[in-house]
Amino acid sequence: MKIFRTKENLTEHLHILRNEGKKIGLVPTMGALHPGHISLVEASKSLCDITVVTIFVNPTQFNNKEDLLKYPKPIEHDQEMLLNAGADILFNPETEEMYQENEGWDYEVGYLNTVLEGAFRPGHYKGVTQIVFKLFDLVKPDYAFFGEKDYQQFLVIKKMNSDLNLGIQLMGCPIVRENDGLAMSSRNVRLNPQEREIAIQIYKSLLFAKANFNNLSLSQLQQEIQQFYKNDLLDLEYFEIVNPDNLKTIDKPHPERAIALVACTVGTTRLIDNMMLP
Ligand code: AMP
Repeated sequence: MKIFRTKENLTEHLHILRNEGKKIGLVPTMGALHPGHISLVEASKSLCDITVVTIFVNPTQFNNKEDLLKYPKPIEHDQEMLLNAGADILFNPETEEMYQENEGWDYEVGYLNTVLEGAFRPGHYKGVTQIVFKLFDLVKPDYAFFGEKDYQQFLVIKKMNSDLNLGIQLMGCPIVRENDGLAMSSRNVRLNPQEREIAIQIYKSLLFAKANFNNLSLSQLQQEIQQFYKNDLLDLEYFEIVNPDNLKTIDKPHPERAIALVACTVGTTRLIDNMMLP
């Protein structure tokens, strides 16, 4: 696995590979890798000749300074995981390599930025689209792989890809979970044993919504769901059941397709998860 820290060296190397006709897959991450990230590497390897993984904790997408400061950075562990997974290239730049001071970014994603994560984390998708655009522009991948764990982020990136005619094939990969159902996340390491145990309520509430979607009304479901979060360690930000194509409100009782999306703070750690219904 080749490791690059500068855009120049990465570009030079990719130029050669592209001229050899290699199909390039990009897996953007913020590191602290777990099997969820590795599933994206595997998906890329199955479709592409070269898999480029980026590890960059992107400051512009953090609306909470403390969250950014606390973000884990186990780079040696990450390199080992990527080596074992068979990634071809790791790009791991410093912040100064990716941003100039006071750099602007004008792209507006519209409605998707006004709901759920967009509403609860002001500026988050501005930062996400800014860095993903930079990485797309740098790597010029044929395919890029994203986890459905960050479902709204995937919709945002699909919209940017289409709005700006970037022409990249975007692939969404299923959520990888712990044995008890908790969605894997780099933030899970921050949970103490008590919080880790109660965090399973998020998955249980999603399973309940899935099992009861066809026999309860949306307002009944919402009422029942609140019971799962009656614990001092849990602070539910939202639990919404919406149209999976555009995250808009569902206007008929039991549609064939819907998605439940949830954000919840467990102790001081904010977690998100989702599940397709019914
Ligand atoms: P992050 O490092 O958290 O920015 O995530 C990098 C990529 O990995 C994103 O596309 C995430 O959606 C994806 N990802 C994170 N956790 C999981 C998971 N549990 N299952 C599948 N994909 C994931």
